[in-house]
Amino acid sequence: MKIGIDIDGVIRNWAGKLSEIYFRENPVHKQIRNDTYDVGCWFPIGKEIYKFGFEVHAEEIYTEAQVYPEAKEFLKKLHKDDELVFVTHQPNKNLEYLTIKWINKNELPHDCILFTKDKSKFKGDYLLDDYTKNLQRISMVRNSIPICFNQPWNQDWNGQRVNSYDKFLEIINK
Ligand SMILES: [Mg+2]
Repeated sequence: MKIGIDIDGVIRNWAGKLSEIYFRENPVHKQIRNDTYDVGCWFPIGKEIYKFGFEVHAEEIYTEAQVYPEAKEFLKKLHKDDELVFVTHQPNKNLEYLTIKWINKNELPHDCILFTKDKSKFKGDYLLDDYTKNLQRISMVRNSIPICFNQPWNQDWNGQRVNSYDKFLEIINK
């Protein structure tokens, strides 16, 4: 099988690193919410968070973010029998470069990386993603079957959802 795996919110704890650095730089601020995909609603600085995360602190966030617990083992299992494609959207070329650096630094097994804003372009069997709009588009275009990786910001997705990597493996091995 050919399996697509999103990176941020599925394998890389991007949001966790963003929050950590935000509160290091703004210790008296409080987080407003974390249940929307748009991080512009999460912090008191509003849309300024894009410059904070994508430019000023990009190197640190994108290369130092943690791999979610058990993610590497999960990728190893997938990579043993299946073709594994990272399907990820990055807002600019520098963030693509830093993402490749992060993948290599963490020695994450994969066959190739597809950088695309439109994830329905991935042609394969399943695609694991955490963004409702991506999942909706993938299910419309039908180049792969979308599976939602459960996160606080995708509770509006009504389709198939997994709470763990093992559950995803169970589904694709059916
Ligand atoms: Mg994502």
